[in-house]
Amino acid sequence: MDAGREYWDMEIEPLLNTPEIKDVQWGKLQQLLTRLYDSKPFWRERMDTADARPQDLKSLEDFSRRMPIMDKAQRRQLVLDCDGDVIRAVDQSIAVPVDDVVLMAATSGTTGEPTPYPHTERDNEINAEVFARILWRAGLRRGDRVVHAFGLSMWLAGVPYVQRMQNSGVCMLPVGAEGGSERILRFAKQFQATALFATPSLVEHLIEKAPDLIGMPVSDLGIKTILCAGEPGAGIAEVRNRIESSYGATLYDHGGGYGISCGHAEYQGMHHVADDKMIFELVDPDTREPIPFEHGAKGLAVQTSLEAEGMLWMRETFGDIVQVFTEPCPCGMSGFRFKVVGRADDMLKVKGVMVYPAAIDGVITGFAPQVTGEFRIVLDNPPPRVVPPLVLRVEYDEHVSPEQLPALAGEIESHMRSTLKISPRIEWVAPYSFERTGGKTNFFERRY
Ligand SMILES: [Zn+2]
Repeated sequence: MDAGREYWDMEIEPLLNTPEIKDVQWGKLQQLLTRLYDSKPFWRERMDTADARPQDLKSLEDFSRRMPIMDKAQRRQLVLDCDGDVIRAVDQSIAVPVDDVVLMAATSGTTGEPTPYPHTERDNEINAEVFARILWRAGLRRGDRVVHAFGLSMWLAGVPYVQRMQNSGVCMLPVGAEGGSERILRFAKQFQATALFATPSLVEHLIEKAPDLIGMPVSDLGIKTILCAGEPGAGIAEVRNRIESSYGATLYDHGGGYGISCGHAEYQGMHHVADDKMIFELVDPDTREPIPFEHGAKGLAVQTSLEAEGMLWMRETFGDIVQVFTEPCPCGMSGFRFKVVGRADDMLKVKGVMVYPAAIDGVITGFAPQVTGEFRIVLDNPPPRVVPPLVLRVEYDEHVSPEQLPALAGEIESHMRSTLKISPRIEWVAPYSFERTGGKTNFFERRY
């Protein structure tokens, strides 16, 4: 095959985000539904209850309207229905018998029980194929050596990602996040890594540590490509610029799923590279009604895997709120694009306007150094609905005098009105009043 070709798969990838690919999806979906209806009681019952049997559905739109959404609450319920037996729950909800699973991974789960990610041989093949597309777009080829620095212990981005990437042709150096900064840097140097795969915060951390730990700046390592995943950051211009200039490398955002950002100078979101293997829909996070998949549309991401066995998602949501872009990217590459804008769990609704703490954070951080960047959103009732005004308690910086505060509050409020379409009320809080948790995880002050 031509090593200079545009895409890994020159047959399918030019068709992404076109009407032709819808036919491919519909054909594969019908086969999948029939197979599940015939062999898996759990899915048969769901289809019967929703009048979404294979013969009931005439189009992808029918499928979206009728097939119920699966979320983490339903996953939890399934385990409870199996008397806490996770293996039995997996057996019920995958497309094959549980004994076909050859590799299990899990998320930590913010609320207790981890979510299983069962992989069969077939899943490994599918993921290797999709990762070949992703890595090709990031310019990685046979002969590249990739330092893998995600947690290896049961994480989805751990051993499963090492396998996917090695099967797509590059050489993996699986140091793992557990190895710590020194091992990551030493092995990158010793084995002449050309690429790094890690969270953006770890990639940034290594910039500071390298001179002490290996006696050279990261720019001397020879790393030309950085793939980030696991947290936002790679899409933020300041983070991206700092990482690219420090390493002398190009940064790609693989925020999850089947997405990879492109080489365009300005971040354009992630191109979705596998419409032939995954149906990607948007629904209203509140009503769960389908939202038209149009340029600029925002909603809760819902995914259906078309070929998977263990990693079977049938209108599954992982809670990400995304914005999609269906018009061609200025970079010229195929695939609709998506940006993760928030988490459904964090969503607030003020007078019908959806707003996410991450977006509020972005505005407030933009007012540094007049503010410390720490703030809390006051909730008098359980979210998402907020009775206006939305109250934000914001720490001013120690260099700001009390007389300046009313005008500063006015500026922040007016900025939020124009960018987020909300009219909050700012309440000032003395510098360093809020507890520092080491990560911006606790945005809420719950008073209910
Ligand atoms: Zn692009």
